Amino acid sequence: MYMSIVAAVVTILLKFTAYRVTGSIGFFSDALESIVNLLAAVFGLVMLHVSEKPADEGHEFGHSKAEYFSSAIEGALILLAAFSIIWSAIPRLIHPIALENINIGLLFSVGASLVNLAVGQVLIHNGKKSKSLLVEADGKHLMTDVWTSAGVIVGIFMVKITGILILDPIIAILVAINIVYTGYRLISRSTNGLMDASISETEIDKVKKYLDSLKEKNITYHSLMTRQAGQRKFISFHLLVPGAWTVQQGHENADIIEETIEDMFDEPVTVTSHIEPVEDPASLKDIGIDRKKNS
Ligand SMILES: [Zn+2]
Ligand SMILES: [Zn+2]
Repeated sequence: MYMSIVAAVVTILLKFTAYRVTGSIGFFSDALESIVNLLAAVFGLVMLHVSEKPADEGHEFGHSKAEYFSSAIEGALILLAAFSIIWSAIPRLIHPIALENINIGLLFSVGASLVNLAVGQVLIHNGKKSKSLLVEADGKHLMTDVWTSAGVIVGIFMVKITGILILDPIIAILVAINIVYTGYRLISRSTNGLMDASISETEIDKVKKYLDSLKEKNITYHSLMTRQAGQRKFISFHLLVPGAWTVQQGHENADIIEETIEDMFDEPVTVTSHIEPVEDPASLKDIGIDRKKNS
């Protein structure tokens, strides 16, 4: 993780130098994208720390939703970066400016990409070896940076050989559009999370299949509700059992069912069930988030 931060700082300096010596808005957009990526990585690290904190007094459900803050802030920053690129590219579309020292600029930019490429490959390799998705994702992050830079480098090289100056702001705007897409994805992810979105359909089907199989044991269910909170899943349902069962018997069964569902997933899962007598019509009046009034 720290390796990727050092790599990011070095590449940002190199890319900004490329922008300073050439005046190319394409290099500027590339440098800005790297800053966004760096901030994203740092925010991600901080929020991961917060979200891994165990539940405490005042936050009994844990802190797993903290990561949605980081993706919301990241998304907003990214959109801001994209906006400032487009803002500075538009005047260049109307009045293209000749670039200076293109060779030196390309040299710095290629250097920056080589740093990213090397560190990215090392991280992906280490991540796979240590089975750390986070390290691997970090490496892949750097690799997307390499691809953007490669596009920018090819574009600026084209400016050099063709002399078509307008290519420079066009490249910058393409980079900005790419950044907007990333920002949009991050923001929609965090709003979804803050709205307590359900777990995925395939995951729900897996749970349903198991709950359906309990019919053999005289147990049915209703009011299955799920929500994804960062890495953690929350699943709740009502178990309808014969009213003559003892509390002991009901609880033993519920415990087994809850544990079985928790074991179905690799990520942390909190399962809560509510036991009710199948014969009592009142059992059917509490499906969903609101209890239906007796009328
Ligand atoms: Zn219990
Ligand atoms: Zn019920």
